[in-house]
Amino acid sequence: MSKMPDPTLVADVGAYAAAVDGWCATRPPALAAAVRPIPDYATRVEVMSDLLGALFDAGWSRYGWPETLGGLGGSILHRGAMWQTLAAHGVASMAVFEHLEVLLPTLAALGPTDFVADALPAFLSGRERWAQGFSEPDAGSDLAALRTRAVLDGDAYRITGRKIWTSWAKYGTWCLVLARTGTTESRHRGLTAFVVDLRHPGVEVRAIEQANGTDELAEVTFDDVPVPATRIVGDLDGGWKVAMHILSHERGTYAWFRQCFMYRDLIGHVADGPAVSDRAVGDALCDIAAVAATSGEGLRLHASGATLGPRATITKLLLCEAERSIQDAVLAGNADLALAPLDDTTALLRQEYLFSRIVTVYGGSQQMQLETIAKQLLELP
Ligand SMILES: Cc1cc2nc3c(=O)[nH]c(=O)nc-3n(C[C@H](O)[C@H](O)[C@H](O)COP(=O)(O)OP(=O)(O)OC[C@H]3O[C@@H](n4cnc5c(N)ncnc54)[C@H](O)[C@@H]3O)c2cc1C
Repeated sequence: MSKMPDPTLVADVGAYAAAVDGWCATRPPALAAAVRPIPDYATRVEVMSDLLGALFDAGWSRYGWPETLGGLGGSILHRGAMWQTLAAHGVASMAVFEHLEVLLPTLAALGPTDFVADALPAFLSGRERWAQGFSEPDAGSDLAALRTRAVLDGDAYRITGRKIWTSWAKYGTWCLVLARTGTTESRHRGLTAFVVDLRHPGVEVRAIEQANGTDELAEVTFDDVPVPATRIVGDLDGGWKVAMHILSHERGTYAWFRQCFMYRDLIGHVADGPAVSDRAVGDALCDIAAVAATSGEGLRLHASGATLGPRATITKLLLCEAERSIQDAVLAGNADLALAPLDDTTALLRQEYLFSRIVTVYGGSQQMQLETIAKQLLELP
């Protein structure tokens, strides 16, 4: 594919989706490798990085991003169509690349522009990966209590602190770190978002093995790590706005991408797996449809320059329901999942089942989402 955008594909998402579908149908080797069940996390990261490289070289993953940042134009609707098509062809998840739809929309919108223009192609092509450093041992639901500090020293900030539950840090190159630039009392008003190089001396990443056997999560410590002031995302002391922008994607539009894979999982299981009751499949399909409807609205709003705002919390709650009901349906058809010999397919099923139990925590716990709905949408006292 040419490095120039095709105006027809930019203007017509249906034509773009058909073109991606045609490419997938030729079964490129990177796609064929990615549709196999791969329970080993490090291997999955490698295989998905290769697939991202192939999608970038073919030009597909560049649609949906502005030309000023190395994209080929179009909107989030293109990205939604690309991942939906990949799922339909058997890709099981975004693996380590969820931040393409959690962090990258915010980086593209709020900068720093020069840095993002360099970083976006590296991320899209699978050469570099990102992590999000918000949570700390004493700051999760109460994120404004975070204590990681950034202190100005010449033309850089020196960052010291400890982050936890940082997804993909072990495999990441860059981390978007929320740090305190104001006083402790300044709470959410004294926070700034920085892009930190995870390879820099003074950064230590300690992987945390989860119950499902993956090492997606990590604890990351920063010991006096210098970060150029040019790597501030948004404004100095404007980190809360950056965090809310990211969370609106993590809770809202990201659900579109996730539900593509959930749908594919469920349909694949019904077709090939042990019998599952019609009732369980029907319930799970309804739950997925609810996620697709609300997150699809989020995509359309985003494409027109608006956002779901606090309504993204409703999408996240629906996503939690759907994740659980699908895995409950799968488990009902595989009562011996906990005991079954671990071939690659069973091992992945077990990973997915256990993951479905913690979906209510990432991006803010279920209780905190309910609180947002009560206060911001229902305006309850
Ligand atoms: C799979 C996974 C991936 C994650 N990835 C990342 C990541 O990449 N980057 C990152 O920064 N973080 C990440 N997190 C962390 C996640 O954002 C936090 O775990 C979450 O915000 C909850 O914070 P906490 O763990 O400190 O729990 P706490 O805030 O201590 O909450 C514990 C319990 O108390 C409840 N609670 C707390 N305060 C209230 C209140 N005021 N009212 C009612 N109930 C309350 C909570 O709902 C929860 O049930 C991830 C978590 C998981 C599980």
